[in-house]
Amino acid sequence: METKKCKCCGRELPLSEFSRNGIGVLNTCKECVKKKKIEGRAAKKKARDFEQEIANAKKMRLADFTPRDLMEELANRGIDGEMSIPKTTYTKVSLSSFRTSVSQ
Ligand SMILES: [Zn+2]
Repeated sequence: METKKCKCCGRELPLSEFSRNGIGVLNTCKECVKKKKIEGRAAKKKARDFEQEIANAKKMRLADFTPRDLMEELANRGIDGEMSIPKTTYTKVSLSSFRTSVSQ
């Protein structure tokens, strides 16, 4: 029985344990190929999840935060004082327009 050494795990295995690639057989055994595919998929999923998390964070708008969230954030940054904004405009205020009006 003809055998071949797997480039990945180093085991000497029968040729039936290697996939064919047209001209001959692959240098990596079927088991290692399968393992690599699973690892690759897991790594890709992890990368995708991370990208999704960043995309979600970027999509957050001021309107997604409750007044309490915002007050806590200001308090955490050491900002103190009182603030009163009419409720009707408060829901529409955007941070960029707020910055422009403050700098003028
Ligand atoms: Zn192998």
